[in-house]
Amino acid sequence: MTGVPDKTDAVVVGGGPAGLAAAIAARLKGFDVTVVDGGHLPIDKACGEGLMPDSFGAVHRLGIRFDTDESFAFRGIRFLGAGASVEANFPSGSGIGMRRPCLHQALIDRAEETGVTLGWGKRVVGLTAEGVALDSGSIRCRWVIGADGQNSRVRRWAGLNGARHESFRFGFRRHYRISPWTDYMEIYWGSGSQMYVTPVNRSEVCVVLITRDAHLRLERALPQFPDLSRRLDGASPSTTERGAVTASRSLRRVFRGRTVLIGDASGSVDAITGEGLSLSFHQAITLADALAVGDLRSYQAEHRRLVRRPNFMANLMLSLDRFPVLRRRVLRALASEPEIFANMLAMHVGSISPVDFLMHGMLPLGRQILTAS
Ligand SMILES: Cc1cc2nc3c(=O)[nH]c(=O)nc-3n(C[C@H](O)[C@H](O)[C@H](O)COP(=O)(O)OP(=O)(O)OC[C@H]3O[C@@H](n4cnc5c(N)ncnc54)[C@H](O)[C@@H]3O)c2cc1C
Repeated sequence: MTGVPDKTDAVVVGGGPAGLAAAIAARLKGFDVTVVDGGHLPIDKACGEGLMPDSFGAVHRLGIRFDTDESFAFRGIRFLGAGASVEANFPSGSGIGMRRPCLHQALIDRAEETGVTLGWGKRVVGLTAEGVALDSGSIRCRWVIGADGQNSRVRRWAGLNGARHESFRFGFRRHYRISPWTDYMEIYWGSGSQMYVTPVNRSEVCVVLITRDAHLRLERALPQFPDLSRRLDGASPSTTERGAVTASRSLRRVFRGRTVLIGDASGSVDAITGEGLSLSFHQAITLADALAVGDLRSYQAEHRRLVRRPNFMANLMLSLDRFPVLRRRVLRALASEPEIFANMLAMHVGSISPVDFLMHGMLPLGRQILTAS
């Protein structure tokens, strides 16, 4: 549907994963919801395209279904670097890799099925006293949900830009035509950058470079990752390179008055965690609960709780990025004690708490690093 009403319960600004998930969750609570997005379908975006197993509780509650022919299940994570390699399976379930437009279509299908109104090619140009102004027309509403991504203008218009913490890296993604050689998501650790590989279907992998160097590009970085270069040798790229900024950002607050933020607009964790989509889906459910009782403070409190674990993981991973000696020692320690890595992964996907990880992961890891020559 492309026509949008001039009055509704909730307007969602941005029809990316977070906006569509928020719209579905609010619709399931009985609200009339309209999503407006300045883009036209199909919408693609630089992304690692991996959904961690902790996404699926929320995905199922939202009733989203993924096409198994257009996705690839992976059983765990493998780290490679400093001459070491270590892998662990997820404690339960699998992750799923899927091309971004396929994920987007699954969300659109579910939004349409639940009765969300979708308006593509409709850009929001400001907030009004009664709702939002579009590039042509306006919509009155009770709630404005800002899901307009990393550079959110809704965040700025609502005076919510105040960040407690902010740092940036650059991400570049490209697909290669090759049968996945593994059912693990692989993270290759280099000097000042990482590359990670997600199998996304039976004949394609998604390769992402994450770096602090805005001028580096994927093909130029590959020689720094000889193991990955060898894997991709002879595979032809199936897409062009696409880049984006990946931010670690936590906001002081995520709502003001009728306006509330979700997804990357509401703060984000570094892409290396692979947790952005999972966070958006969980936030969507929490937000709908808060809208149903008319109290956005509960959303803000739960939002803070939801980002705690991914933030912890992001800090850990960014420390490995920043400190080469630490990275080398940690990778070698994990390779010689894979159980520690399994505990780290269990914490990453929420199967054990950060406190349990400190006891059964960090302490043994510290011992291993200190005793290793
Ligand atoms: C390189 C990279 C790799 C990543 N890898 C992973 C991964 O493997 N797993 C994972 O879970 N996460 C990953 N992420 C994070 C993930 O991509 C994001 O968390 C996710 O896309 C956030 O979705 P969103 O809906 O908040 O924002 P977006 O996907 O950016 O959607 C925002 C939408 O808002 C629209 N919009 C903007 N302004 C307006 C306006 N004024 N009016 C109307 N519409 C507007 C845009 O057109 C867009 O469609 C990665 C991110 C990067 C950069």
